[in-house]
Amino acid sequence: MTRKDFIGGLALGAAGAAIAAPAAEAGGLAVRPALSPDACEFDVVVVGGSCTGVFAAIRAAEAGARVALVEMAGGFGGTATQGLVPIWHSLYSTDGKTKIIKGLTDEVERELVRRGEARLERPDNFARGAVINVAGLQILLDECVMRQKGITPFLHARLAAVESDRPGHVTAAVVADKAGLRRIRGKFFIDASGDADLCRFAGLPTWKLPKDMMQAHTLCAILSGYDAIRAKYPKFSFGEIMKPEYGAGLKHMFGWGADVIGAKGLFFHAYTRVAGCDPSIPEDLTRIEIEGRAQLRRIVDAVNRNFPMPDGGGLAIVALAAHAGLRDSCHIDSLYRTTTDDILLGRRFDDVIARGSYRVDIHEGTGITFRYLDGTFERTFSDEKGHHYEKGRWREKSDDLPTWYEIPYRSIVPKGSENVLAPGRILDCERDAHGACRVMVNCNQMGEAAGRAAANALAKNIPAANAYVSLSR
Ligand SMILES: Cc1cc2nc3c(=O)[nH]c(=O)nc-3n(C[C@H](O)[C@H](O)[C@H](O)COP(=O)(O)OP(=O)(O)OC[C@H]3O[C@@H](n4cnc5c(N)ncnc54)[C@H](O)[C@@H]3O)c2cc1C
Repeated sequence: MTRKDFIGGLALGAAGAAIAAPAAEAGGLAVRPALSPDACEFDVVVVGGSCTGVFAAIRAAEAGARVALVEMAGGFGGTATQGLVPIWHSLYSTDGKTKIIKGLTDEVERELVRRGEARLERPDNFARGAVINVAGLQILLDECVMRQKGITPFLHARLAAVESDRPGHVTAAVVADKAGLRRIRGKFFIDASGDADLCRFAGLPTWKLPKDMMQAHTLCAILSGYDAIRAKYPKFSFGEIMKPEYGAGLKHMFGWGADVIGAKGLFFHAYTRVAGCDPSIPEDLTRIEIEGRAQLRRIVDAVNRNFPMPDGGGLAIVALAAHAGLRDSCHIDSLYRTTTDDILLGRRFDDVIARGSYRVDIHEGTGITFRYLDGTFERTFSDEKGHHYEKGRWREKSDDLPTWYEIPYRSIVPKGSENVLAPGRILDCERDAHGACRVMVNCNQMGEAAGRAAANALAKNIPAANAYVSLSR
């Protein structure tokens, strides 16, 4: 097998340390080092700059690694900032008695509260722990990255290909940025892309659900005028406007929203829903964005048509998410697939990397299902007969119901990986388990764990599978 066989994502040429790819193999593509040739070699390369990736980079750099942090957007924060999603779930057990999440999530949350850019909810409110001003979060993440010695950020840099010298051993990330295609070499790689881009390009094993089983995706927005319309029309709500008689033409009736911290009169809106799409397929991703915006247009127009306000005071779109919110995509095939029972029965793991208390939360095409650690469930869905709500128990009552769950390290280690870890929503877990594991406070902790493990692997010259660092350290 030639070296070219290990280059995933793009057909690049086998040029050794050289910077140009032979035209015959690469269609004329030229790849340059990201920095001057002697400075473009890093210990750890993190791809994806949500809090998952940023926290991974910080933990690796704190341990002395030289880290490249590659993000395709113009800022850090991922779904929170590019997708506008402003809720971090509780850092406490479901009864509110035990603080189960500490580390960088806790530090960042406290700093945002100090700046007046986050509001904490009651610890036992597992539906929302903190409402965050996501612009404030994005600026704080810049500060965190810039003050941590050892991190080199690359914004507007999209992973386009991966180079490996043998199966499971990645040697370089090739990114597309304003300079063209550039190679960032590394000794260890963290895939925090949300879609397993690095793992897929590297040929590491991944899997995904059939499209109709994947969770629906949502294009979010910030709207103005909501409070005024509610004051004039007590009947008005976004739940109400989703009903067919208002003419928004939606198949679903579920959505949610939140206030915007520090901005009176603005409303965060997450009522669009595009189902049956796989965001790791470019055509589907395009459809999610355009269909999401079209739904938003119909919702806003339906509100203004049915609940008119004088003097142009109706509902207005103030900001659109730069990127549609993606709930599900590719997963890695890892050393251990976390099961729904692991989560809902609160199993404990020797290699725990994250603790969580957020419920199983599955956004289906026309509704939503919640399963709780206390053994209850709720389901809302719509069909041709209307809007339905069910609740009940999925498990008998007992005295030893868990109040939090754990996520094991093995679920972020791709099978066959020597030097790649994959934290975040791409972790390996069953569908319902994913409904809980995917939330940000959980992804953040997985990122920290990946960063620590990467530094540990390099310090001891051991493979990813053996590099677990205890959560207590
Ligand atoms: C509409 C919606 C509402 C949600 N509500 C909540 C909520 O209220 N609370 C909560 O905790 N969770 C919520 N979630 C879930 C949660 O936001 C995500 O599951 C979580 O943020 C995933 O984190 P991640 O780091 O794995 O991926 P992402 O947040 O998707 O981050 C991936 C990052 O990688 C970058 N990237 C991707 N590909 C590349 C590439 N090829 N090269 C370079 N960079 C790349 C992206 O730009 C992004 O910054 C919601 C999700 C959605 C979609």
